[in-house]
Amino acid sequence: MPPLLHSPFINSKYRLIEEEIFSLLSISTSFNHITQIHARIFALGLHQNNFIATKLLTLCSSTSSINHAFLLFNHISNPTVCLYNTFIRALSQNNLPIQTLKTYTQMKNAQIPSDNYTFPFLLKACATLPPSPPLGRAVHGEIIRTGFEPDPYIRNSLIDMYSKCGSLESALYLFDESPTRDIVTWNSIIAGCFRRENVEKGREFFDKMPQRNVVSWNTAVAGYAQNGRATEALKLFRRMQYEGVKPNGVTLVGVLSACAQAGAVEVGKWVHRYIERSGIRMDVLLNNCLIDVYSKGGNLREARRVFDGMGERSVVSWNSMISGLAMHGYGEDAVSLFEEMEREGVEPNDITFIGVLSACTHAGLIDEGRRYFSRMVEHGITPKVEHYGCVVDLLGRGGCVIEAHELIKNMPIPPDAGIWGALLGACRTHGNLELAEQAVIRLLELEPWNAGNYVLLSNIYAAKGCWDDVERVRERMRGRKVQKTPGSSSIEIESSIHEFVIGDRSHPRSKEIYEKLEELGMKLKLAGYVPNTNSVLHDICEEEKEHALNVHSEKLAIAFGLIATPPGTPIRIVKNLRVCGDCHSATKLISKIEGREIIVRDRIRFHHFNDGMCSCKDYW
Ligand code: ZN
Ligand code: ZN
Repeated sequence: MPPLLHSPFINSKYRLIEEEIFSLLSISTSFNHITQIHARIFALGLHQNNFIATKLLTLCSSTSSINHAFLLFNHISNPTVCLYNTFIRALSQNNLPIQTLKTYTQMKNAQIPSDNYTFPFLLKACATLPPSPPLGRAVHGEIIRTGFEPDPYIRNSLIDMYSKCGSLESALYLFDESPTRDIVTWNSIIAGCFRRENVEKGREFFDKMPQRNVVSWNTAVAGYAQNGRATEALKLFRRMQYEGVKPNGVTLVGVLSACAQAGAVEVGKWVHRYIERSGIRMDVLLNNCLIDVYSKGGNLREARRVFDGMGERSVVSWNSMISGLAMHGYGEDAVSLFEEMEREGVEPNDITFIGVLSACTHAGLIDEGRRYFSRMVEHGITPKVEHYGCVVDLLGRGGCVIEAHELIKNMPIPPDAGIWGALLGACRTHGNLELAEQAVIRLLELEPWNAGNYVLLSNIYAAKGCWDDVERVRERMRGRKVQKTPGSSSIEIESSIHEFVIGDRSHPRSKEIYEKLEELGMKLKLAGYVPNTNSVLHDICEEEKEHALNVHSEKLAIAFGLIATPPGTPIRIVKNLRVCGDCHSATKLISKIEGREIIVRDRIRFHHFNDGMCSCKDYW
């Protein structure tokens, strides 16, 4: 880099030097420039000049040279309020909340009175600190004391701080008491409501606000998506377009994450084309979202195309692609992508290993799984309960049930329900009643509300002929409020999402759907299909069992898919629970009878049903 200062400031007046330094600072962009100019400032004896110091501090902050900013600030003998404010802003923007607050205390001790520029960044710092509600309140007290509370900018910062710190009540109170509310005030309170999972209230404010800008729309769209309400996020996005508001990159990140959740691949594709057409910069974040949408929507080829086309990738890009391959049953590909990642020198994180370990599980790569598990430590990553869960699952599925149990017993952290559930699954597959009993007992301690566990335990006792125990378990179950997550399945047809629950008759084409189901039932019977028998350890269907198995939500969604799309079109279903054994075998046959590819994403993984077979090879 060529030196910026080649001519000495000979014979110039003080002001001229000052101006020259100013203009140099305004064209500087790197730390290298800063050090050169700073050296010059020292040589010229200008280092106590507050104007120059302020400008230099701003530059340090924008080039992330925060250590240099400390050096600079500590050498000023009499900082002004403006310099303090600049330093506070620099610290807050560089995510140093403690230092921000310390500098404020220093400012107070030096008896420099704060002004309206001091507080917003202090509040921002409070919002990023974990125990910050009391700190935030203390700063609020200062604001009241110094008489700055009516300042609209400070008020907005207060609303933002309280909602981020978990005190939505205080934020709502300030909002109600605000004499003037600008668009920022409204946006802050909407963001606060969505952040605190008060979706209805957030929407109420959104509908009520007198005027909206793109930030308001982005906040609401992303707010719905983050609260798991993907369908509403997409609906709102459609209204945004209808009202002629031009989406930006932030909007599309919100929309794409909703698409990924809902498996809305068609909307995702539309957004993809929209980005290409509208000239919005396709950055790493948007690309990562697209990989997620395509892989969660069952279109792995397109996900891979996006991944391969990326000029720059983050660890998240690799993670999404690896776990995408794993979920679809391409374990070997996931593992080789991980090795490519290591070769390219991208440092994996704990999420990478969840992808790799579950890839090994789905592909039955037991030795590789064991090896990668020990490799985590080499990368300096301490295995979390999720990683243990993956390995227990891997060993269990591979028939190493005893080894899996040993691993659980030697875990340095307490095993969770997921781990006992994985062991139980293995015991079911490999018929180990003794260990299954132990696993269910642990599961009942951890999730006493789960009805499936009681049913399973009583089945185990029944199989052993311990009828007293059977009765005891039934007693316990009756004495408790047992609940089940209602199962639901959704399907995207022509960019709109149709959702079904068990025995659903609310769909406008319900009559045709049930007719189709009846027809399928006949065909399945002719093909020799028998509804799943109640073997002892398989009777823990997550979706409620009713007399008619054929009304499980995924069957309704499949039947609707069959009547609503032209022959040969693949059918993509998203289910919130695990697919039950009966639906799984029925779907295999339906794919053959109807000549359709059926892709089901359940809570655990993807099932690609084709010509009577499933990609999971009946392990899920
Ligand atoms: Zn089912
Ligand atoms: Zn399957």
